[in-house]
Amino acid sequence: MNNEKNKTDITVSKSALSQKESYAALLSGNREWVDSKLKEDPEYFKTLAKGQSPEVLWIGCADSRVPANQVTGTNPGEVFVHRNIANVCVHTDMNMLSVLDYAVNVLKVKHVIVAGHYGCGGVAAALTNKQFGLIDNWLRHIKDVYRMHAHELDRISDQEAKVNRLVELNVIEQSYNLCKTTIIQNAWKERSDLEVHGWIVDINTGLIKDLKVSNNDSHSLGYVYEFNDDEVAVH
Ligand SMILES: [Zn+2]
Repeated sequence: MNNEKNKTDITVSKSALSQKESYAALLSGNREWVDSKLKEDPEYFKTLAKGQSPEVLWIGCADSRVPANQVTGTNPGEVFVHRNIANVCVHTDMNMLSVLDYAVNVLKVKHVIVAGHYGCGGVAAALTNKQFGLIDNWLRHIKDVYRMHAHELDRISDQEAKVNRLVELNVIEQSYNLCKTTIIQNAWKERSDLEVHGWIVDINTGLIKDLKVSNNDSHSLGYVYEFNDDEVAVH
């Protein structure tokens, strides 16, 4: 999501093109992209059409400023992508679970990355008491992250710093949410080359910050989240 400032920026750029022109620009942009790819390699699309074997699943924010391929310098075929508002990973979201299951069990990706970004409009909205409509129900998941970390966040007086810290904590909690799924835990029982990571894209610099919360086994989940076939999970 965009904050107020960027909404204004978008309005300005939109007004430069008419309704028809902005639509036509997408199709002409596609032609130019196809031409440039064929110029580099006449077999490019034939090769691409043969299939995909990405090693990475990217779960990121739907914000238009954080496209997975561009920020990682990767090409079509290299990153399997799922995006939603504020990169939330909820275990009742059939869309996210389907993407995760396919990526982990069929494509056999080696890295699952939850990628948030500083200045996230969804996270900023979750920090307010305003109603925004249907999205309030989605943002509730981020409000829950706030509640879990209120002792830290309430000590930050600068609003931008508070939003950005919640962006980080949200990525950390969502990456743990992935680890808690049966999909990830069962895959860990079968193979050792699957890791879950948490990243932040700094849209002011374009650089990625690794939050160093990478996980490749269930043991650190603790509590009742680890599935290890013990009947007594909590001692
Ligand atoms: Zn965002």
